[in-house]
Amino acid sequence: MTKIGIVGAGPAGLATAYGLRSASVDVTVFEKSRGFGGRAATRGRDGHRYDHGATSFTAPTPRVHRLITGHLPTAGLVDIGALSVWEFETDGTVVRTEDPDASPRWTYRSGISTLGKLLSRQSDATIRRETRITRIRPQEEGWGLWTEKGAVAEACDALVLTPPAPQTATLLRTARTEEAPDAVHTLSEAVRAVRYASQFAYIFAYDHPVDRPDHLYGLRAADPEHPLAWIGFEEAKPGHVREGHSVMVVHTSPSWTADRVDTDPLSFVSEVQGRVADLLGQDLPDPAWEDTQRWRYSVPQDPIASAGRAAGREIGLFLAGDAVTGRGGVGAALASGLATADRLRRGA
Ligand SMILES: Cc1cc2nc3c(=O)[nH]c(=O)nc-3n(C[C@H](O)[C@H](O)[C@H](O)COP(=O)(O)OP(=O)(O)OC[C@H]3O[C@@H](n4cnc5c(N)ncnc54)[C@H](O)[C@@H]3O)c2cc1C
Repeated sequence: MTKIGIVGAGPAGLATAYGLRSASVDVTVFEKSRGFGGRAATRGRDGHRYDHGATSFTAPTPRVHRLITGHLPTAGLVDIGALSVWEFETDGTVVRTEDPDASPRWTYRSGISTLGKLLSRQSDATIRRETRITRIRPQEEGWGLWTEKGAVAEACDALVLTPPAPQTATLLRTARTEEAPDAVHTLSEAVRAVRYASQFAYIFAYDHPVDRPDHLYGLRAADPEHPLAWIGFEEAKPGHVREGHSVMVVHTSPSWTADRVDTDPLSFVSEVQGRVADLLGQDLPDPAWEDTQRWRYSVPQDPIASAGRAAGREIGLFLAGDAVTGRGGVGAALASGLATADRLRRGA
C-alpha cells in the first residue's frame, strides 16, 4: 500500500490526513509536540481555557465550511462572529467600529485546539506525537525520515511538509546532498525565501471581571506599527472563563516584536500591561497570574513561489499550510491540506 508521511499535526497536516481517510493509503503524521492543532492552540489553567495563538477561524471556502459544520462533530463549536471588535489608533484612541458582519468565526467551548483533536479522531492516520523529524532524504523510491533517535519506520512514497516555512527550510537543507535531484534544491530555495513575522502572546488572568466597554470581545490595532496588535477577552467566548473572572490574551505586533524576539517575553510584561491599561483607559491591578508564549513564526509575509512547489511534487514532496497560502489563517491552512489530499489521491 502507498505510504504517505505528513510532518506536522497542525490544521494543514491534519486536514491532509483527514482528506485521505478511506483512501487505500497508509498515512502517518509526525508531530514534534504533545498536542494537536499547531498554532491553533489552547491552554488551560485554574478552570479557564484560552486560545493563545489563533483566536478564532473562518471558512474561506464552501468546502471548509462543510467540513466544520457538516463533517466534524459540532458539539462545542461556537460562532463568535457577532461579537464586537473595536480598533485602536497609533495615539491610543479607541474607535467603535461598525457592527460586525456576523459571518461565522469559530472557536470551540473547550478551545480552538479542539479542531485538531476532532480532525485527528476522524482521520484513519497513525499520529506519532512527540516525534520531531530532524532529517529527510530522497531514497531510491520515496523518502526516508529521521528523528534524533534514528531512522523512523520504512520510507514513505510521498511526504507532506506543513511546518512554517523557516522550519521546513531547515528540514529541506538536510535533503540537499550532491546526489539529490535538482528539484530538491529548487524547492529548498523557494521555501527559504518565505519570511514569517514573530509575535509574543501575553495572558493576564484576573479573579474579577475587567471592565470592557459594551461587552466587546476584542480590540484590534488599526496601525501595524502599534506595539500591540490585539487584546482579546476570553470570557466573551462561551465556556472559556469561569464566571466572574477575566482572562485577557494580548498579541504584540510583528513590527514591535521583530527586534525583541530573542529576548524572554517575560522581560516586557510590565510594558505590555501598561499599554493595555492605557488602551482600556483604566488602572489594572496586578493579574492573579500571567502566561506568555513566543511565536517565532507567527504568520507568513509571502507565499512560496509556485515553481518551487511544482518541483517538489515531481519528486513526491508536497507542501501544505500557510507557507503555501502566504497569509496566516487556520481556514486557509485547512483548505490547503484538503487540496493536498486531493492531489495525493489523484497520484496514489
Ligand atoms: C499569535 C497568532 C495569532 C493568530 N491569529 C489567527 C486568527 O485569529 N485566525 C486564524 O485563522 N489564524 C490565526 N493565526 C494563524 C494560524 O494559527 C496559522 O495560519 C495556522 O495554524 C497554520 O496552520 P499550519 O498547519 O499551516 O501550521 P501550524 O499550525 O504551525 O502547524 C504545523 C505543525 O508542525 C509541527 N512541526 C514543526 N516542525 C516539525 C518537525 N520538524 N517535526 C514534527 N512536527 C513539526 C508543529 O509543532 C505544528 O504542530 C494566528 C497565529 C498566531 C501565531
